[in-house]
This record gives sequence, C-alpha cells and structure tokens, in this order.
Amino acid sequence: MEKKRMEALGTHRSVIRELFEYGNKRKAEIGAENVFDFSIGNPNVPPPEAVKRELCRLLSEEDPVAIHGYTSAVGSAAARSAVAADLNRRYGTAFGPEHLYLTCGAAASLSVSLSAVVERGEEVIIFAPYFPEYRVFIETAGGTPVTVPSRESDFQIDFDRLQEAMTEKTAAVIINSPNNPSGAVLSAESLRQLSQVLSEAERRFGRRIFLISDEPYREIVFGGVEVPFSTQYYRDTIVCYSYSKSLSLPGERIGYVLVSPEMDGWEKVYAAICGAGRALGYICAPALFQHMLPACAGITSDLSVYAENRALLYGALTEMGFSCVPPDGAFYLFVKSPEPDAKAFSERAKKYELLLVPGDDFGVAGYVRISYCVSTEQIRRALPAFKKLAEEYAK
Ligand code: PLP
Repeated sequence: MEKKRMEALGTHRSVIRELFEYGNKRKAEIGAENVFDFSIGNPNVPPPEAVKRELCRLLSEEDPVAIHGYTSAVGSAAARSAVAADLNRRYGTAFGPEHLYLTCGAAASLSVSLSAVVERGEEVIIFAPYFPEYRVFIETAGGTPVTVPSRESDFQIDFDRLQEAMTEKTAAVIINSPNNPSGAVLSAESLRQLSQVLSEAERRFGRRIFLISDEPYREIVFGGVEVPFSTQYYRDTIVCYSYSKSLSLPGERIGYVLVSPEMDGWEKVYAAICGAGRALGYICAPALFQHMLPACAGITSDLSVYAENRALLYGALTEMGFSCVPPDGAFYLFVKSPEPDAKAFSERAKKYELLLVPGDDFGVAGYVRISYCVSTEQIRRALPAFKKLAEEYAK
C-alpha cells in the first residue's frame, strides 16, 4: 500500500511542478524572455551580501573539517542560540536553543512536526486554500487531512466551519500566515479567537490539540501589516520556519522547528521532534548554512521588490477586470478565474505564454495562483498578454 502510494506520488508531479517543467520546455523552444512564468515560488531577489560574505569567510577562514562536519542532530548550539536570540529580540519571547530543532526548510519542519504529534488515524485540520504538500505530509505521518474552507471574502478563518470540523480525533491544526497562495495574513484577533476555539476543544475532548504554524513568509508583508507571533496566542504551538524565502535560500534547505516552552511538558514534545527527525533522516541540517546563522539569522534579502511587484500586478489586473483579494503578504496573487474551470483558464493563458497555476490543488476551485517573485520587468512585459487574455473573456 505504502509502496503504491510512493509510486503514485513520484509519478504524478504537483500541478506547480508540472507547469514549471512545461515552462522550462517552452523557454528552450521560444526563448526564456518570451515565456511569462508565474508558476513557482522561487525568490528572484538575491540573498543578502552579508550571507555571501559570511559563507566566504567560513570557507576561507574556518577549519574545513569542522564547518563541513556533522553537527549535533538537532543543529549546532551556536546556530540555535542565534535563532533564539533573534526571535527574543523581535518578539520579546524567552526561547533558548533547547526549544529549537534545525532542519531542511519548512517542508522538513512540517514533516518532522506532524510525525511527532499525529497518531495513525488522527485528523489534521488545514484551511483552504492551503499549500498542496500539506496533504502529502499529513498522510505520510499517518494522519487524515480535514479541509476547512476559509472565508472567500478575505481568506480569513471561518470559525463556524472550523468548529464543525473539530472532532475527538483532531490532533493538530495547521495555519500558514502569510498564506501561500492567498497572501492573507491572520490578524491578532483571528489568532486570539483561534486560541479560544482550540483551548475549548482541548477541554471538551480531553486531549491536546497542537497548532502548527507554518511561517516561511513571516517577513514578507506589505503596508506595515504585522504578523502576530503564534506562540504568544496559543500554548500548544509548534512553529515551522524556513529561510528559503526571507534569505532567498530555497535550494540550501535550512529552517527550524520551534517547540513553544509555554506548553505543558514541552520537553517530551521536543523529544518527539528529535525522534521524528531521526526516524525520517532529517538530522543535522546542512552544516554550512547552520554556521551562517549566528551572523545572518536577523537579516533578510531586500524584500522591497515584492511590494513593488504586488502593487504593479494587483493594480493592472484589477484594472483589466480580474478579481482578487488584495494580499497582505507572501508573493502570490490568488485570482478568481473568469470561467468556473480554473484548469481551462490556465490552459487558455498558455496561449499567451502566461503560466498561471490552477488553484484546485490548493483546495479551492475557480482560482489561479500567480507567483510574482519574478523580475518587475517580467511583470511589465507580461501585462499586454494578461490584457489579451482578459479581452477574450470580455467578448
Ligand atoms: N510551506 C509553504 C506555505 C510554502 O509555500 C513552502 C514553499 O514554498 C513550504 C512550506 C516549503 O518550504 P521549504 O522550501 O523551506 O521547504
């Protein structure tokens, strides 16, 4: 059964990867400049100079045996202390290295966390639209994903539907703010209400319900919007973070799991995280990038280009008649398809070399995701193609 499932996962690529591969083929055929690839969330902003400087310094000045060698399974103490200090400085928290487990980006953080806290047959709630890999990670951990649609007007949590979805089998709820694909940021009020609902369900069902907060876009927000820090709202919180987006290092695979010290018996949960990391083979995150963290944990790439891209694309597309909730963060627009079938819309967009991901795999029909972590120039050049596409539907 499991072998068959793995075979199926390996045979059918995600819709995002499918479109990305199609784009690469098209670029080889007609030239990269003629394809408007909005398929994948690969940051186009370079990592900060300080990252490059620190990596060069590590490589030229430090003992090569030490910097390329295994660290402890949970990550080096210096790197974990640096991450804790950065969080404490920004959020006034009191984390220590003992609450952190360094791992290979948010994907590994989620896989490890789910394996650590979900028993076979238990349920994990995800809010649609969601990152499609959640389903894969939950099922691999033996759990069952339970989808709760978000409010379509603003993609915030629909608490009535959340209440309906919670059962005695609910082991965890995953939130992702800023959200991929909607760009929605959960407000402090939403987190307060979520905390109340979860705490009440914990009492009602007499069990622990974890909040798994997936936060790879935490720093990418617009117009002064703040991302409330989840551990300050709910005790039983596990944070999954990645430097893929904030430091533009998606290929280097570095991130962490943070177990909130506010939860009762956090030590046992942390031990389960270590055990899951061991069981899944996610021990000792890439060492060079761990060693970079003491110098770079508190900085980000120049994220201003995403604000510029968002303003340009959101302004132009809504002017053309497309409809979209204005995103407060991340680097995606989740645009309503002008025809009910988003796959048909995405196919039609290909005629103009526009690569837009149909939203069905994000758990919401009738939308496409436009990933705008591309050059502003690409967006400018793509606007006439979007215009022609819009005109097809205006006819
Ligand atoms: N979670 C969300 C919401 C994402 O968008 C991504 C990547 O795009 C991930 C997790 C995985 O991130 P990483 O590349 O750090 O594994």
